[in-house]
Amino acid sequence: MRLPKFEYLGPKTVQEACSLLAQHGDKAKVMAGGTDVLNVMKERKIRPEYLIGLRAISDLSYIKADADGIKIGALTTLTDLANSAVVKEKFPCLAEVPMKMATVQIRNMGTIGGNLCNAAPSADTAPILICLGAKAKIAGPKGERVVALEDFFTGPGKTVLGKGELLVEIQVPNQPAKTAGAYLKMSRVSVDLAIVGVGVVVTREGDSCKDIKITLGAVAPTPIRAKKAEAVVKGKKIDDALLEEAGKIASQEAKPIDDVRGSAFYRTEIVKVYTKRAIKQAMEQAK
Ligand SMILES: Cc1cc2nc3c(=O)[nH]c(=O)nc-3n(C[C@H](O)[C@H](O)[C@H](O)COP(=O)(O)OP(=O)(O)OC[C@H]3O[C@@H](n4cnc5c(N)ncnc54)[C@H](O)[C@@H]3O)c2cc1C
Repeated sequence: MRLPKFEYLGPKTVQEACSLLAQHGDKAKVMAGGTDVLNVMKERKIRPEYLIGLRAISDLSYIKADADGIKIGALTTLTDLANSAVVKEKFPCLAEVPMKMATVQIRNMGTIGGNLCNAAPSADTAPILICLGAKAKIAGPKGERVVALEDFFTGPGKTVLGKGELLVEIQVPNQPAKTAGAYLKMSRVSVDLAIVGVGVVVTREGDSCKDIKITLGAVAPTPIRAKKAEAVVKGKKIDDALLEEAGKIASQEAKPIDDVRGSAFYRTEIVKVYTKRAIKQAMEQAK
């Protein structure tokens, strides 16, 4: 399918991009890697008059470590995220996620910012980042603001980004000692979007789980924390019965729908099993 006609605008700075966005409003769409946006344009689901490409903004692609954790520029590709030595060292559970996504070509073009701003309930980078307590730095006509990634998504394809605003950075805080995570994804084939994604990050104390965050993807309009399941596990010694209970409670917190990828029933059952497995895996990694 051919792309509809549009005018390409290539700002060189974040400020320039924000003012173009504010100026053109609903007539404009941002493009990072284009792996999502060009497809929906080809399908005529959207027909922007202006495509604001971010690729000429060189200072949006970086991964930096500082005293608080790491900062990831929104234009960082999924490949760069997977290959980053600092991400592998500090947050191996995050470095592993892109390798569970898409194809080499898509990972080379697709960005972490695009994955989050596309706001698919199945976005694979979201669950583990939410579990890690990541924050989104947003730039706009009124300056910058920072929101918890957990509060970034407002519905399928919808985020808290307002008129003229861009996601510019993802901030991942340092974690306590003996903290590790796991992201498990169920999809028909590895290239496909998640039918269910379960992210877990635990802090371990002996055989007990001192702290835990569980985030479910593709089973609600946005990625959601399974807080009741977290409460079941937090502070307890992990055994099979507890894992069983956590999986059951997490599956009750999921609000899946039937769609082409899977039924609500199937998704609920997978949440049960994958929550159990992800907690177990994270606990083993946190030793
Ligand atoms: C074959 C194929 C397989 C795929 N597999 C997966 C998969 O396994 N898992 C998965 O999660 N996704 C998958 N995707 C979806 C997609 O590749 C990813 O979501 C990717 O990370 C999108 O990044 P991008 O830079 O290409 O986004 P773009 O297409 O450029 O943008 C996506 C959306 O975000 C907005 N946007 C982008 N950057 C910003 C920003 N900085 N600030 C504000 N708005 C912004 C755009 O306006 C657009 O609405 C797949 C896509 C294809 C075509």
